[in-house]
Amino acid sequence: GTDEQKKYFLPPIFKGEVRTWQLLSEPEAGSDLANVKSTAVKDGDDYIINGQKVFVGSSLGCDYMWTLTVTDTEAKRHENLGWFMIPSDLPGITVQPMDLLISGGESGAGSGVKNTVFFDNVRVPAFNLIGGHNQGWKVATTHLELEHGTGGRISRNVVVDKLFEYCRTNDRRGEFISKDPDAREKLIDVYIEQEIVRLLQLRNYWMRHSGVTTTYEGPQASYLKKTLGLKMSGHILDILGPAALTFDPELGASEGHMEAHSRAGIIAIHPGGTTDIQKVIMSRRIGIGREVREKAGALG
Ligand SMILES: Cc1cc2nc3c(=O)[nH]c(=O)nc-3n(C[C@H](O)[C@H](O)[C@H](O)COP(=O)(O)OP(=O)(O)OC[C@H]3O[C@@H](n4cnc5c(N)ncnc54)[C@H](O)[C@@H]3O)c2cc1C
Repeated sequence: GTDEQKKYFLPPIFKGEVRTWQLLSEPEAGSDLANVKSTAVKDGDDYIINGQKVFVGSSLGCDYMWTLTVTDTEAKRHENLGWFMIPSDLPGITVQPMDLLISGGESGAGSGVKNTVFFDNVRVPAFNLIGGHNQGWKVATTHLELEHGTGGRISRNVVVDKLFEYCRTNDRRGEFISKDPDAREKLIDVYIEQEIVRLLQLRNYWMRHSGVTTTYEGPQASYLKKTLGLKMSGHILDILGPAALTFDPELGASEGHMEAHSRAGIIAIHPGGTTDIQKVIMSRRIGIGREVREKAGALG
């Protein structure tokens, strides 16, 4: 964006005064995001936006919608898009909740609600176009780089802590679960695998902030986070049995966190690019998918 846009939009976001949803996916554009069909047509000092987005946001509402549309129906793929920051209270915007198995912790909401959003002749000031006319894919490459994990993070998986705590303090057949050799073997698998994810994310955070050039590292971490997260659901089921599948206060485990993880493990494969897509990007970046090795998007 321009300096003026940065001054206007960024401070309230940094201070947590506003909430933004990212509205990328459409019925015909998920993995193939460049295939979006929503349109933004220039009309005087405004753009008129029409179209539909799916699987977006949370149950918490938002102030802005950060979104990608077609700005030139005649231009070539990747040169036909515009990126907008749209105030969510503009006339013509309808938000319709979708009740999912769980939302995978997306957007800070644990409720399992994502939404379909409809734009019906929504008039958006040209000031809200980010990156310039038909430059939306440039913004997308930066945005997707972060979605695919290149930004890294310093964090640990709190479900691992809860699982270990539960197994240390709850007994089965008169002994703490953590003393059972079979359970212990699975617990160690969980520990090793989640430590791999933590370290790769930490590495990416370090690379990003020390200005080291990245290539495949984001999708690598994202792929492992997703596949090992799903594998962890299997380990939890092996360790806890049916207790992993209910949030019943007496029959379930760890106040329902283990049951929630059983649902989240599979759901979390999809947001921010599926595991297949992470592999596609990695192969391009290490030079086995295309003749010319693809570069990572700029993070600024
Ligand atoms: C919980 C949740 C939260 C989400 N949050 C958001 C959000 O906040 N904002 C947003 O915009 N979207 C969001 N999404 C949408 C998400 O980004 C898409 O679901 C995802 O990108 C996949 O797109 P799709 O569902 O259209 O599947 P498709 O793209 O139709 O893919 C279907 C299958 O084909 C595979 N596939 C597709 N292309 C290839 C290829 N080239 N090579 C190999 N395999 C391929 C995929 O891996 C998948 O298994 C969310 C989804 C979920 C489930």
